[in-house]
Amino acid sequence: MAEETKAEEKVEKAEEKAAAAPAEEEKKEGKKKKEKRGKKPHKNKPSSKRWKKYKIEDGKLIRGKNCPRCGPGIFLMKAKNRVYCGKCHYTEFLSKEKIESEKK
Ligand SMILES: [Zn+2]
Repeated sequence: MAEETKAEEKVEKAEEKAAAAPAEEEKKEGKKKKEKRGKKPHKNKPSSKRWKKYKIEDGKLIRGKNCPRCGPGIFLMKAKNRVYCGKCHYTEFLSKEKIESEKK
């Protein structure tokens, strides 16, 4: 009977070793991080809202209204009753007819 109890003890010790093994591996993986030098990692910048003025519908490019003073590429801000250029402060007031037509 004494031999059997010894065998059981051995099995228990083996199980303990198996449980302890993965913890040891984790310690090895957690090496100290080296200090970063030189180039900083690239971060994506938020894209300009300008590109929201472009839309593609049925394969055609639809652009918002451009500023007549600044030329193409400079879009006009839309307000209730006017359009406004943030670059040269050009303002164009919309007539009531235009506003109603744009609502549709
Ligand atoms: Zn302008």
